[in-house]
Amino acid sequence: MDLRGKSVVITGAGKGIGKALALALAKEGANLGLISRTSGDLEALKAALTEVYDVKVSIAVADISVQEEAERAVVSLQNDLGAFDALINNAGVAQFGTFLEMDPADWRRHLEINLFGVYYVTRAALPAMIERSSGNIINISSTAGERGFATGSAYCSSKFALMGMTESLAQEVRKHNIRVTALTPSTVNTPLAENAGLKIGDEDRMMQPEDVAELTIAALKLPDRVFLKTAGIWTTNPQ
Ligand code: NAP
Repeated sequence: MDLRGKSVVITGAGKGIGKALALALAKEGANLGLISRTSGDLEALKAALTEVYDVKVSIAVADISVQEEAERAVVSLQNDLGAFDALINNAGVAQFGTFLEMDPADWRRHLEINLFGVYYVTRAALPAMIERSSGNIINISSTAGERGFATGSAYCSSKFALMGMTESLAQEVRKHNIRVTALTPSTVNTPLAENAGLKIGDEDRMMQPEDVAELTIAALKLPDRVFLKTAGIWTTNPQ
């Protein structure tokens, strides 16, 4: 797919992987819809992108874990950009703690954002894709969606569930020429990794958010007749 002039919506676009995706996709000439909860992040990114690239950038401030906010954001971006050629469900949170020590409200928040948030945004965007008989949905999952680890019960539960939702939806909508993908990066050098205490060793050797953006764009550019079902991307040599 040639991304020039295509409409691509990114959740969690204000920081980390989402921000790198926005920069890389603007460079490809895609028109962008950006969603996150912090308007300052989105305004600053929009200004930076439109200064350099000849693309349309529309922003929607929303907490995707609130169904009405997710739906309102999708409608507003569809009004500005038209039906989405691609939706990248990237927004997510990660906090680690033992099963008993972690506050149940924090545990629940992982499911509300990392699973229900993706469900609400996708549910709002899907009808227009089905109507056009085309579209791409890329869910940024994690190695935590493939393997559990101590202190990861909340995050892993949300990402394992996201993997199941992704594969089921892919099976359901491929007959409409809609491609649904789950990417499963290991640790990426972002604010999320920093806050979760995941950044260890030499930052320059770590996978960067731009690397995940490159894989995402490669998935979008595959011929329409095929799609990447899942793909892992790891740091080559972190030590
Ligand atoms: P990040 O640096 O913390 O950025 C996350 C973005 O999501 C921010 O813009 C944040 O902005 C937004 N966001 C969070 N909750 C939201 C909500 N409820 N509604 C709307 N926007 C929300 O995180 P990242 O490392 O780039 O992670 C992006 C995705 O990659 C996540 O799904 C994460 O699980 C996944 N991932 C990350 C790593 C890693 O090591 N970094 C590895 C594998 C997978 P606001 O707070 O302003 O809303």
